[in-house]
Amino acid sequence: MSKPSIAIVTGAARGIGAGVAKRLSSDGFAVAVVDLDEAASAGTIAAIAEAGGTAVAIGADVSNPDQVAAAFDRVVAELGAPSVLVNNAGIIRDNMLFKLGVDDWDAVMAVHLRGAFLMTKAAQKYMVEAKYGRIINLSSTSALGNRGQANYAAAKAGIQGFTKTLAIELGPFGITANAIAPGFIATEMTQATAERIGIPFDEHKVNAAAVIPVRRVGAPADIAHAASYFASEGAGFVSGQVIYVAGGPKD
Ligand code: NAD
Repeated sequence: MSKPSIAIVTGAARGIGAGVAKRLSSDGFAVAVVDLDEAASAGTIAAIAEAGGTAVAIGADVSNPDQVAAAFDRVVAELGAPSVLVNNAGIIRDNMLFKLGVDDWDAVMAVHLRGAFLMTKAAQKYMVEAKYGRIINLSSTSALGNRGQANYAAAKAGIQGFTKTLAIELGPFGITANAIAPGFIATEMTQATAERIGIPFDEHKVNAAAVIPVRRVGAPADIAHAASYFASEGAGFVSGQVIYVAGGPKD
């Protein structure tokens, strides 16, 4: 078997996904940077190219079956068959249950669950053929329950069940599936939360850090480090796990 070398990271135009894409590139992977808008991934692509890596930007909505199929056609044509998939694309539509609309419920389920399902179903075909693969799904500490996030918490808990089932079904083909459940990571997603609740982002981060045992908030590089481990060949006996990367114990 040739060295596994092609990774797909969804939602990699910015934030955690960009951090993961850059880290996998420095680990030696050619990376397909998938996000809603191809142009928005320019920064990630440039950073990877500057560091001497290979990356292509692909515009696709992970919840759309046709766009997912087209994205895989491009990955295979431009880079080759993928051996690593990181399902990272995500959105929040926070509200207390009594105000949470059906559209905000459906939108969150579509990106996190339908998106991870469609991307994984497309990827497993190549991984099963190669008898090798690494699937990494982004869950969240919110999977354990979080005020104002009934939709997101349900999706992120769903991701954990999805991951464990993938591990069981795909394990016989040399494919592992694991989930990373981040705590507070400073990105545009957490910045948007600060804006929504009317607190300056810096103050929001200080408040969050005060209750995290390691006394700091996380950075995309913290999650990228965990993803690098799960993506490695040496992690082949670790599957169906959820690792909380949250500066302290969570489960
Ligand atoms: P972010 O909002 O900064 O980035 C998310 C990216 O996903 C964006 O580039 C966005 O365009 C893309 N995206 C959204 N919908 C998409 C779709 N349908 N198809 C393709 N791309 C799409 O968020 P982030 O903080 O980097 O979060 C990344 C992942 O980590 C998400 O799954 C999020 O739920 C999870 N997470 C984040 C935190 C945190 O504190 N930031 C904590 C736990 C889990």
